[in-house]
Amino acid sequence: MPGADYIYPNVTEVTQRGGLLERWRLAEPLGCAYIEIPADFVKNKTEVERTGQEIGSILNRSSVELLYEQDTALPGNLRYLLHTEPAIPRRDPHGRQTTANLRWRDPGWVADFGDMLLEIEDFLGIPPEIIEIHPGDRRNTHADIVTAMHALIAAHWNAFGTEPLVLLEHHKDQSISTGSQIRSFWATLKDIHPEIAGLAGIALDPWHLHAAAKEDFPGSLGEVPPDSLRAFHIHNDLRPPSPEDRVPWPQVFGMIADVSKTPRIKPVVYQKSRVPAAINFCREMLAAPRAAYAGPPA
Ligand SMILES: [Zn+2]
Repeated sequence: MPGADYIYPNVTEVTQRGGLLERWRLAEPLGCAYIEIPADFVKNKTEVERTGQEIGSILNRSSVELLYEQDTALPGNLRYLLHTEPAIPRRDPHGRQTTANLRWRDPGWVADFGDMLLEIEDFLGIPPEIIEIHPGDRRNTHADIVTAMHALIAAHWNAFGTEPLVLLEHHKDQSISTGSQIRSFWATLKDIHPEIAGLAGIALDPWHLHAAAKEDFPGSLGEVPPDSLRAFHIHNDLRPPSPEDRVPWPQVFGMIADVSKTPRIKPVVYQKSRVPAAINFCREMLAAPRAAYAGPPA
């Protein structure tokens, strides 16, 4: 039966931002291989008050120490994914809507972004296996994003002597949302930085792809280069997936089962109580395509 490595999502019941161990204790009994740690910019009124930084700011070291928790004895098998600023609309302390700007086109900003990640990782005690970034708006070209991914990998190599997997997560309202845009992005990466093709890739979010492509979903999914796929986000508009969803899960899981290395799957649900069922849904969907093609028992 084809398997997957599961990523325990950022559920609301744990200490927000917080530390590694509290999340690992939830993840390990479910057999998850990774936990997700949020690495947003200053994101709400509480964080503005605690840090003294404005909403949407890149965290400085003292804010990192205020918002995250440091654990002393980390298990050797603990691995995590750092989910960075998603650039979705938020409320500032006065109730106004604001959206953080992702400036991949600005090398100075990319360096500051990378420094924030390194401060978080240094404080938590270990570097992440995976970093997820988002494309932002159209002012960032595909080449800008590729160059930034390369810079983030280099910064981690210099700081820790390890290279994380840096994944781009497409989004229905951002500059990379469709299968053809993902394909064009991947072609740009292989053109200007082919040496990072094994350390970079796409976190595919079928719900967001469906929201962008609508009735052309099958065609759009078909345009995503299979060799770019490193991880999958499974949800139905942030609710648990089910066979009744508009996303054609059998087609999606057929693709997941076909990736050449063990796929990583993040069930994107926000409540602890919903994680086990979301993982089971994925396990059953992954088992199903093979069962359909399996020969008779020997
Ligand atoms: Zn995201």
